[in-house]
Amino acid sequence: GKVLVTGANGYIATWVVRTLLEQGFSVRGTVRSASKTAYLRDLFKSYCDKFEVVVVEDITKDGAFDDAVKGVDAIEHTASPFYLKAVDPEEVIVPAVHGTTSVLKSAQKYGTSVKRVVITSSTAAVLTPASEPHVFSEADWNEASIQEVKEKGRDAGGAAKYRASKTLAERAAWEFYEKNKASLSWDLVVLNPPFVFGPVIHAVDVPENLNESARQWYFNVVKGKLDNDALVNDGSSYVDVRDLALAHTLAIQKPPVAGERIIVSASTYKWQDFVSAAHHLDSRIPAGNTSYDPAKAVHLIRYSPDKERRLLGIDFRSLEETTKDTLEDFKARGWL
Ligand code: NDP
Repeated sequence: GKVLVTGANGYIATWVVRTLLEQGFSVRGTVRSASKTAYLRDLFKSYCDKFEVVVVEDITKDGAFDDAVKGVDAIEHTASPFYLKAVDPEEVIVPAVHGTTSVLKSAQKYGTSVKRVVITSSTAAVLTPASEPHVFSEADWNEASIQEVKEKGRDAGGAAKYRASKTLAERAAWEFYEKNKASLSWDLVVLNPPFVFGPVIHAVDVPENLNESARQWYFNVVKGKLDNDALVNDGSSYVDVRDLALAHTLAIQKPPVAGERIIVSASTYKWQDFVSAAHHLDSRIPAGNTSYDPAKAVHLIRYSPDKERRLLGIDFRSLEETTKDTLEDFKARGWL
């Protein structure tokens, strides 16, 4: 089959494309300017007859994907801004929401061969900041960030603006699907990953220009940017980018996932967990906070693994493996 991957030049999407090609799929990737095509064509040159890349300049325009969806069997929509420095919330909300509805509308009109659409949402669309430990599941929706953006506008926190963009985009996708499903040839699956870490295969010149999550990992783990308090108190949940790519390929192949949103999370972490693993592998990396006791770490936000286990059943890479492979990648780039 043939799969359309939007935002194919991104951190996660390049791994999604690679995994699909490795599994024998043909892939059509979209990027927003012609300057981004050469790197991808080169990266996937061994699959030359199975990989193509097309330019979709403005994903927010109705009809933007009308040509791109023609003749594909499935769509993986990953393109969406992930940065925490938006000034006007609309900067991230408009491309997230309209990018999503524009893909779905094009798929409705011209995606006559499309059987499934997978959207890369986020646990940002699930979580609510918690002061007591709480286990979140697919039944939870992040209303708090939408509310914060509504009340504070430009003064809302950067994370709230991003989280609101992901929540509103995912909600728009489900609303479109519910309203139109009787007339659609495809069903909808949504994947909700937490922070995504692991090696990088997309085009990056310097660490400062890494995507948000890999950049945080590089500076917090390799460059020792966090103080001792933050190292043991700050953290979240994560998944390896290669496991998330696998989830994207499973999501287009498994019939029972139709109509589901699925949290894809390997584990909780505190930054010191990665720092300890990295220091163990390479003594040039600062040891960090050596008084850390992982058994005493408090994780206020956890995610239920049940649905992922039942529907996808991924054997997640260990934190050590993610750390080792990421360090090797950064070494090969001369960043370490
Ligand atoms: P990247 O920044 O590496 O990739 C983002 C992709 O979206 C790029 O192709 C980018 O294109 C495209 N994009 C961003 N803004 C726009 C816009 N306004 N118009 C058109 N295209 C746009 O990030 P990731 O790979 O990390 O993110 C991919 C998806 O995964 C996003 O939906 C993100 O929300 C989600 N996600 C990521 C997590 C993470 O920790 N990395 C965690 C949970 C979800 P360009 O290069 O041209 O800017």
